[in-house]
Amino acid sequence: MTPEPLRGRCHCGDVRFTVSDGVGALACHCDDCRKSHGNYMAFLAAPAASVKVEGAEHLTWYDSSEHARRGFCRRCGARLFKEVGDRWMVALGAIDGPTGLRFVRHLWVESKGDWYDVPATEGAR
Ligand SMILES: [Zn+2]
Ligand SMILES: [Zn+2]
Repeated sequence: MTPEPLRGRCHCGDVRFTVSDGVGALACHCDDCRKSHGNYMAFLAAPAASVKVEGAEHLTWYDSSEHARRGFCRRCGARLFKEVGDRWMVALGAIDGPTGLRFVRHLWVESKGDWYDVPATEGAR
């Protein structure tokens, strides 16, 4: 990760956050992500403690499986986080400005949509 925390927000700005640690970029092509995001989910996997949320009261949490829940802004509907145990998957589309990240890994490629090719990856950082 960059020394500076990444900053992000939902579309309406009610929910803002910073991420100071994490691994990415990753993409998940599973059915849950497809249904939730309308396409694959591109994210940064971060320890929950490294994500600081401002406006957390505007988040609604949805249990998308037995093991995961997803947080979205109740006003604009932007899907920002997926929580799995003590890790948060932070949606990269919500980050402001350049992230300096490239895809390092793709998950559940076998269930991806047939309308795109899997984006190229670079070596893990
Ligand atoms: Zn919002
Ligand atoms: Zn997924």
